[in-house]
Amino acid sequence: MMKWNLIVDVARCHNSQNCYLSVGDEYAGNEYPGYTAEMPLHGHKWIDVLKRERGAAPMVDVAYMPTMCNHCDDAPCIAAAENGAVKKRDDGIVLIDPVKAKGQKQLVDACPYGAIWWNEESQVPQHWNFDAHLLDRGWKQPRCVQACPTGALRTVFTGDEEMAVIAKRDGLEVRAEELGTRPRVYYRNMDLYEKCFIGGSIAGMVDGKEECISGAVVTLNKDGTKIAEQVSDGFGDFKFDGLDPDSGAYTAEILHPGFQSVSETVTLGTTVYLGLISLGAR
Ligand code: SF4
Repeated sequence: MMKWNLIVDVARCHNSQNCYLSVGDEYAGNEYPGYTAEMPLHGHKWIDVLKRERGAAPMVDVAYMPTMCNHCDDAPCIAAAENGAVKKRDDGIVLIDPVKAKGQKQLVDACPYGAIWWNEESQVPQHWNFDAHLLDRGWKQPRCVQACPTGALRTVFTGDEEMAVIAKRDGLEVRAEELGTRPRVYYRNMDLYEKCFIGGSIAGMVDGKEECISGAVVTLNKDGTKIAEQVSDGFGDFKFDGLDPDSGAYTAEILHPGFQSVSETVTLGTTVYLGLISLGAR
């Protein structure tokens, strides 16, 4: 059975908001009987681009992560719906029936991803339905995929086995996998949004002037064990990325043959920029 999947590449999203706008253009003021009631003009974000800043100046990055209904294969919203108001289609798309779901506000809380929005005027729960009405008319892509200028969104229409191969090959992840909802929306480079880094900038006195120190060996240790090693770059910078938030104490040891070694210990809550680390002369 061929099914729809969406792949979101966090590294390619530059917050153009075209995906969000395409949803508003398609659904605000337009109802599609059998698929959805009109989306309200204000307040709903069926596709919501989340933003996360990490670090401190000058070592700062920003990640944007488009989020939407995940079209879960084990969807809590389907279990919470009365009268069969939410259905999983054979092509993997989850549809909230705009007539049967009328008054079923409990569906908003049933989605652990916050992907269902309550339409106060129509008294219906609503979500991004993969533009099922367009796909059923022969469109090859949902509008958000067509509208993205950087290729951060793409669909894959294939069988589950083939999709599992693609996910493994490309290192794809899903949101909150531990919930067991089996999303059909996959992410590349999700670490840019979900994980933390420990970074710093190394300097030292060279010929009476403070200079960036490249070529210093920096090891990252946790619980007495070395977990990573880097060499500082031409700006004296190092950056250990992909660390879990709230994952405890780490020690960065800095070694350079021309300077005294230094170590810095931090307890990681979120990303830490250690700032300028000055090495003393030997
Ligand atoms: S993301 Fe939420 S609304 Fe979408 S299928 Fe999963 S549980 Fe249902």
